[in-house]
Parts: sequence; structure tokens; C-alpha cells
Amino acid sequence: MKAAAFTYARATSVVNALELLAAHGDKAKVLSGGQSLMPAMNLRLVSPDIVVDIGGLTELRGIAVSGDVLAIGALTRHVDLLRSPEVAAHAPLLRDAVAHVAHPAIRNRGTVGGSLAHADPASEIPACMAALDATIVVRGPGGERRIATAEFFRGIYETALSPQDLLVAVELPLSGEGARFFFQEYARRHGDYAIVGLAARALVGGGQFTDLRLGFFAVGDRPLLADAARKLINVSVTPALLAETAAALAEELDPEEDQQASPAMRRHLATVLMRRCVAALLERPELETG
Ligand code: FAD
Repeated sequence: MKAAAFTYARATSVVNALELLAAHGDKAKVLSGGQSLMPAMNLRLVSPDIVVDIGGLTELRGIAVSGDVLAIGALTRHVDLLRSPEVAAHAPLLRDAVAHVAHPAIRNRGTVGGSLAHADPASEIPACMAALDATIVVRGPGGERRIATAEFFRGIYETALSPQDLLVAVELPLSGEGARFFFQEYARRHGDYAIVGLAARALVGGGQFTDLRLGFFAVGDRPLLADAARKLINVSVTPALLAETAAALAEELDPEEDQQASPAMRRHLATVLMRRCVAALLERPELETG
């Protein structure tokens, strides 16, 4: 299928993009890499009157350490995360995760901002942002605002962005010495959207977690930072405690039924990933099987 007729506008600056969005309200759509928007338009799932192409705004592309923050511009492409020494040093979880996003052609065009704004609950990058305690930077008619991931993601393809807003960057606290990371997903083929996935960040001291953030994806309508992880902090992790945590995690999840998996299968796979993650991060392989 082909998209319905639309007007194309190439934004010349962030201010110009905001003016175009303000003038057209919910009849406008921002175009970044186009890897989700164009298929959706071709399938006529969305039919904007005007597409505001921000792809030429080079000021929105880049990765930099600024003070104690790693700042990633909205137009930074997936492939940039794979190649960036700053990401490798300060947020290696993102590099590990992005290798699972689609295929090279899509990673060459798709952007971090597009992935966050699109808010597919099966996407890797939003769950990483939850695990890494990111702040999303948005500019709109009222100026700039900073939004925590817990408030940003509101449902399937739903975020705190209004039609007049532009996502301009995401900021991550530097991971700090000794931080440990885990990323794994179940997918039918490498590059497919995940059936269930887990992105995690931990601090470990004296054989115990002193912090543990488990960001699951494809287990509900948005990325989920699991509350159950709290059970494992500042305690000696035993097989019994891990079984209790797995039960609490399964209760917490609210997965969808689709062609790929039932809710019960998704709950089971999430607990398997949680066990693998804890075993890997604590370097105690015996915990994986309980
Ligand atoms: P666009 O397609 O340009 O935009 C997506 C949406 O976000 C649109 O609604 C747009 O208006 C809005 N938007 C974009 N940028 C901004 C902004 N700066 N401010 C406000 N709103 C904005 N993704 C995964 O996570 N995992 C996968 O495994 C995966 N597999 C894929 C497989 C295929 C075959 C395809 C075609 C895509 C796949 N994707 C996958 C999606 C891909 O990663 C997209 O690149 C990403 O979802 C969106 O980024 P984009 O820059 O292309 O955004």
C-alpha cells in the first residue's frame, strides 16, 4: 500500500520544527529515521496532513559526556550507539541492546528519539532507558521539560509527548565504577521484535546487590522496571529467595496474548531471564537453575 497524500516540510531548525508542529497540531507527524513512521503511513495506520522532517537538524545528533551525564541527541542513530566509545565506556548496556534492534539497514536510519517517541512496548531501547534511569528531554510550546522514563511511557505507542512536542535528547547518569549490566531477549530470529526481553543494571558489593534495576520489555503495555528486584537488594541471594522473587515478578507482569506467545509463556520466560540475569551479575551460575 501507499501512504495517503500528505504535505512534506523539511525543518530548518528546532525552532522551525516547533513552529510547524504548533501550526498543525495533531495533523502533523515528526519524521526522524522513518523506520516506524513510513511503514505505519504506508499501511494507513496513521495519515498525517503534514510530515515535519527533522532529519537535517544535525544539532540533534551526537553523543557527549557533560558533567556526570551522558547526553544522547534524539537524532542519534542506532548504529551510532554501536560505534560510540562514550556509550561503550558509560552505558555498554545500550550497545549490547542495539545489536538486537532489527537489521543493519534499519539501524543505519532508525534513531534513539524515534524509538523512544514510538514507544513500542517490545522495543529494546526504552527498556534500557528505564534500567539506566534516563531522563527524556522534550521541547514544546512551553519550553523545555525533563521527564523520567516512568512518567514518559504511558501505554502502547503512548508517551507524555503532545503533538506539539519534539523529543530532543535523552540523558543518562554515568554508570559509575563497578556497575554491571545484563541484556538478553527471546526472539524467533535475531533482529525480530522480542517475545520477552530484559535489560538490567546492578551494583554489587560483598557478593550482594546494593542496587538492581530490571527493565523488562514485551511483558506489558510499556517498559517495566520490576518492583520484585527490591527483594534481592542488600541480602544474600538464596535459591528460595530467588523462587520467591520469580513468583512476585510473574504477579507483577501483565503481558499480552499474540501470535508469538501466551501471557503464561511470557511470564515464564521473564522469570527465566531474571534468574539468568541474577546468576550472571552475581557470578553465581548455580542460581540460574535454582
Ligand atoms: P520514525 O519512524 O521517524 O518515527 C517513529 C515515531 O516517533 C513517529 O510517530 C514519529 O512522529 C515519532 N518521532 C520520531 N522522532 C521524534 C522526535 N524527535 N520527537 C517527537 N516524535 C518523534 N525497533 C526495535 O526497537 N526493535 C526491533 O527489533 C525492531 N525491528 C524492526 C524491524 C523492521 C522490519 C522495521 C521496519 C523496524 C523495526 N524497528 C525495531 C523499529 C526501528 O527501530 C525504528 O527505527 C524506531 O522504532 C523508530 O525510529 P525512527 O527514527 O525510524 O522513527
